[in-house]
Amino acid sequence: TKPTGRRGAPDSRLVVLAGPTAVGKGTVANYIREHYPEVLLSVSATTRKPRPGEVEGVSYYFVDDAEFDRMIEAGDLLEWATVHNAYRYGTPRGPVDDAIEAGRSVLLEIDLQGARAVRRAMPEARLVFLLPPSWEELVRRLIGRDTEDSAEQARRLETAKLELAAQGEFDYSVVNTDVAEAAREVVDLMQTRRAQSVS
Ligand code: 5GP
Repeated sequence: TKPTGRRGAPDSRLVVLAGPTAVGKGTVANYIREHYPEVLLSVSATTRKPRPGEVEGVSYYFVDDAEFDRMIEAGDLLEWATVHNAYRYGTPRGPVDDAIEAGRSVLLEIDLQGARAVRRAMPEARLVFLLPPSWEELVRRLIGRDTEDSAEQARRLETAKLELAAQGEFDYSVVNTDVAEAAREVVDLMQTRRAQSVS
């Protein structure tokens, strides 16, 4: 029988990057896309509308609800979740399987629910938790980037606190003090062999 490909070529790595709101996951993921072309950064499907500057097929695959339903139905998504009680986001399975089959490492930048789903579906995946340098710095980043009123800010801080508590579920933590440094640490985790290698 043909191997499933899920486990991948011996040197391929599936890494999930998650962490609390405003910690800079997207920035680190984009840095990796630009500086480490050997790594595939998975492009998610989402039902939210594009923001200015976002490019179809690069930032996301922007789909409507009917199309998202169809993808779920067809088993095209490795995992999906409703994020912030609003829109749905999911990881297309095909490109991930193809990349792993070809021996490339793959990075998923997804939310906590997604990270947990990947853990169940692909136990060999490595889960990386991105941490802020300090709680004070996270508060600063959270409040500094938006125009929300103080009630909304308080709600986000509450969410961030809950999200930080999930750190123990992850295999590795990386502190995002400097983007280039954090990106390098994540890529290093893809390239080093685990002691109890699954391959
Ligand atoms: P945004 O709308 O700001 O681009 O993303 C909102 C949230 O959705 C972020 O926390 C991001 O990590 C998460 N997200 C993006 N793509 C996926 C995905 O494919 N699956 C899951 N579970 N979360 C995703």
